[in-house]
Amino acid sequence: MKKVLVTGGAGFLGSHLCEKLLEEGNEVICLDNFFTGSKKNIEHMLDHHYFEVIRHDVTYPISLEVDEIYNLACPASPPHYQFDPVQTTKTSVLGAINMLDLANKCKAKILQASTSEVYGDPEVHPQPETYRGAVSTTGIRACYDEGKRCAETLFFDYYRQHELRIKVMRIFNTYGPNMDPYDGRVVSNFIVQALKGEDITIYGDGSQTRSFCYVSDLINGMVRLMNSDEHITGPINVGNPKEFSMYELATIVLDLTGSKSEIVYRKLPQDDPLQRKPVIELAKRDLGWEPSIELKEGLLKTIEYFKSVV
Ligand code: NAD
Ligand code: UDP
Repeated sequence: MKKVLVTGGAGFLGSHLCEKLLEEGNEVICLDNFFTGSKKNIEHMLDHHYFEVIRHDVTYPISLEVDEIYNLACPASPPHYQFDPVQTTKTSVLGAINMLDLANKCKAKILQASTSEVYGDPEVHPQPETYRGAVSTTGIRACYDEGKRCAETLFFDYYRQHELRIKVMRIFNTYGPNMDPYDGRVVSNFIVQALKGEDITIYGDGSQTRSFCYVSDLINGMVRLMNSDEHITGPINVGNPKEFSMYELATIVLDLTGSKSEIVYRKLPQDDPLQRKPVIELAKRDLGWEPSIELKEGLLKTIEYFKSVV
């Protein structure tokens, strides 16, 4: 039985990961400061004999004995990571250092939840792992993007300097149950607005694109990466390569919910990437992974979840 630490374990992705790791017979320690995570997401696991919760902020060191670390702690929605941008950078950078030091001490394998945001507002489309990105160092997204880029650097320096076993995963937009209905991301916003009969807020003209991965696909990819051969360090893209404009997404959500909400247009936030779509050839080749859930199927499951919480 492996002892696995999941930082950010009470968040959207972290809670699904804890569930999957318990199902697979591991002992799971969920570490979270509950900034954007919720006790509700992990409530059903609290009675599990091999599940433990620690309230802790990853910007401070911690001493534990573990075999594997999944480092997910970091707010992921733009309104949340822009709420206290200095803390966001600290969470990515100091959090990475503290978790890498911990991994080094207990010789644990460690996976970093990196992001497609390391590509910034990409000039190369779709984005392969070899693309170095176009990130503003001074804009309102930089606290997140540059924090995550620095965390990748730290992972590779610990790998070279301390021969740590590392895995760096670049996650593209993911959605599904346990998303915070009010964290401001597009899928949750559109569904909640549609269910409540409120206006659907498209930022800009709605022609910007994203590629949406359903959470179960993403978590399968994450666990496969952790269990992959030692020479596979990443960075590796994991996401769904089917691309949609935000206008298309709004019309699909309206159709699936049967809502009479109106579409309204709001100002596009600064540095909002115009396009985003992963190249997933590496994940296919090295992990034997590709997504299997179509957008409409995943949205229907997500709509059912939001009906029960809003
Ligand atoms: P989330 O906001 O739901 O979860 C993040 C979790 O980290 C929350 O439980 C939060 O309370 C916790 N946290 C934040 N700061 C912390 C700190 N200093 N110490 C301890 N815990 C802290 O977001 P998510 O969508 O589940 O994202 C999880 C990870 O995956 C993040 O690192 C994010 O950058 C990455 N990611 C997510 C997506 C996506 O589409 N969901 C895309 C790319 C990358
Ligand atoms: N967006 C939108 N309406 C909303 C929320 C977001 O049109 O109510 C847009 C946002 O401007 C961006 C896209 O949807 O172009 C994805 O936004 P999200 O915050 O989900 O993720 P990210 O921009 O980090 O990929």
